[in-house]
Amino acid sequence: MKTVDILDTPIEYLKGVGPVRADILKKEVAFYNFNDLLNYFPFRYVDRSKFYRIKDINSDSTYIQLTGKLSSIQMMGKPRSERLVAYLQDNSGVIELVWFKGAKWMVNKLTPNEEYVVFGKPTLFNGKFNIPHPEIELVSAQKDNLGEKLRPLYSSTDKLKSKGLDSKGISKLTRGLMLQVKDSIYETLSLDIIEKLKLISRKESLLNIHFPKDQNMLDRARARLKFEELFFIQLNLLKLKLIRIEKTKGHKFIKVGDYLNDFFHKNLPFELTNAQKKVVKEIRNDIGSGKQMNRLLQGDVGSGKTLVALMSMLIALDNKYQACLMAPTEILAKQHFQSISSILSGLGIEINLLTGSSKTTKRKNIHEGLKNGSLQILVGTHALLEDIVQFKNLGLVVIDEQHRFGVAQRARLWEKNIVPPHVLVMTATPIPRTLAMTLYGDLDVSVIDELPPGRKPVKTAHYFDRDRLKVFGFMKKQIKAGRQVYVVYPLIKESEKLDLKDLTDGYDSITRAFPLPEYAISIVHGQMPVYDKDYEMQRFVKGETQIMVATTVIEVGVDIPNASVMIIENAERFGLSQLHQLRGRVGRGADQSFCILMTKDRLSEDGKQRIQTMVRTTDGFEIAEVDLRLRGPGNLHGTQQSGILDLKIADIIKDEKILKYSRNMAVDILTEDPHLEKDKNQPILQQLKALSKNKPNWSLIS
Ligand code: ADP
Ligand code: MG
Repeated sequence: MKTVDILDTPIEYLKGVGPVRADILKKEVAFYNFNDLLNYFPFRYVDRSKFYRIKDINSDSTYIQLTGKLSSIQMMGKPRSERLVAYLQDNSGVIELVWFKGAKWMVNKLTPNEEYVVFGKPTLFNGKFNIPHPEIELVSAQKDNLGEKLRPLYSSTDKLKSKGLDSKGISKLTRGLMLQVKDSIYETLSLDIIEKLKLISRKESLLNIHFPKDQNMLDRARARLKFEELFFIQLNLLKLKLIRIEKTKGHKFIKVGDYLNDFFHKNLPFELTNAQKKVVKEIRNDIGSGKQMNRLLQGDVGSGKTLVALMSMLIALDNKYQACLMAPTEILAKQHFQSISSILSGLGIEINLLTGSSKTTKRKNIHEGLKNGSLQILVGTHALLEDIVQFKNLGLVVIDEQHRFGVAQRARLWEKNIVPPHVLVMTATPIPRTLAMTLYGDLDVSVIDELPPGRKPVKTAHYFDRDRLKVFGFMKKQIKAGRQVYVVYPLIKESEKLDLKDLTDGYDSITRAFPLPEYAISIVHGQMPVYDKDYEMQRFVKGETQIMVATTVIEVGVDIPNASVMIIENAERFGLSQLHQLRGRVGRGADQSFCILMTKDRLSEDGKQRIQTMVRTTDGFEIAEVDLRLRGPGNLHGTQQSGILDLKIADIIKDEKILKYSRNMAVDILTEDPHLEKDKNQPILQQLKALSKNKPNWSLIS
């Protein structure tokens, strides 16, 4: 395809670039060829027909356009730190324009008493507004840009600017490029889609994203490019899923037998929630289909995911297969083992626990039982992944709290069998739907969005460190009423020593405020030997201690219904999803639970928002959305490596609607034409190929 070639031309061959600029473009913004520049979109547009009045400038003003006469153009300051200062006057007032860099060069360019158009961002200095490094142009020179109503703003860097490639410089290159290649811009979507969604062509959208004819065309250009960006991500993910499904056979569990029935009728102490019923149905469809299941189960802490997983395991058992459940920590594995053993008691099911600290004889027994099939359910940590652990016929793997496990580790489990087991991954870290769609688009996602009845939302309050005595008083009241209390300290790798000191200091002050024999306190942190940790934990579980002072080791999964108060120290240092996880440790029993966020007096803007969000809501999805907004998608679990979220124009939060359209469209197309063989879909196939040439293999993520 000749048309593709032009856009692959190395960037140094573009008029106005050359080797020096090319070098900097490669280093600073990774522009290698024409296509890279063509797809570098403005981050904002300024309406050229709108002029601000100087007297209307206020602290909310961002980039604005002014027009007026220049006066008093002067170099100021000492020789080595000279700056150029000029005044711009319109009929409403005067504002200072300042150049720190290139002042000497600039001073010769400006003529007093001439009419200029000035463009820049006002900043407040010593109580007055000025505009540092504005773009400035004679009104008379503006004729060149006639017809340019919306001026594109491109982000640039200091190094690029030093070579004349500020926003305006980039725009100039783009204009030249566009003239050269505009007839070589090929369509990447099918006519079908374009007509159905009333999109403008690719050529027109690229023209208008860089040089908008008017607001309407800009909007349409944006819509089309956002759609295109999201559509190809979805299409790629769904295609990978199709390939996986075609290639990977799965065990077919059609029978529901005695284990599940008996459990349901004899052991299940409550009704399933509707959300649980829905998810069980989704899982049963998967595991009965003959294809391998790869399902992500999302649900807030305490929503009953584990129970759903357990029922799925029983179906595996009913079909004469084994099942295993893998937890990220020893404590959690043990807890799962205990609760599963007790809820399955009397059903005659062989269950065991395997962790790093299991004794040799026990291990031997387990290995044997797995091999001869007598051991039906194995619960454990990643000790399950050791080569020596061989199942007779592993049918289902449940992984709890997925983000703690490395991708490679997950893959190893599957390799052990010719027909891989079904995989159910549970996570209580709610991922905004939009993100899940983008990130896990090739997994199936189930959501439990309903808590079992009777749960009281945890009451959350924010206290400053100076109010500690009040908080201690509250703890005493709760303990008197028979409740237990967690006090959690942050532990961050970089400041491990300081954090540990915080923890031990805190522990000391709590032991002083809560003395023996009236009170007993447990302490658990990552530096303790496993045995001690366990011992302390067990004392708390059994109710022998009323207070548990801990680092975030208790973050995930621990289930102690009688613990109804969670105090989080230095709460401003935790991320939102972690705060939410921690709060999820309480509110598991029938009593009203409380979460108290302790912070220092002064909080960053971000910190404030996190604390306020926690106080305002207990909805994990709402919290996840705020988290996504505060941190940006790049910082969420597992997204860094993926590169999936390097979106050029779409925004997975704001463009949720377009994302849904694009996903539905991708589903429709692949349903009708799974291999994109039809004539009409050829543009799509070509583009998909072109994109995957430059992208890491997305399928490696899951
Ligand atoms: P998750 O794994 O999602 O955090 P669990 O499955 O551990 O949640 O369930 C939390 C608690 O709620 C457990 O004590 C469990 O027995 C109980 N539970 C689960 N489902 C229900 C239900 N439908 N009705 C009442 N209690 C339930
Ligand atoms: Mg759980």
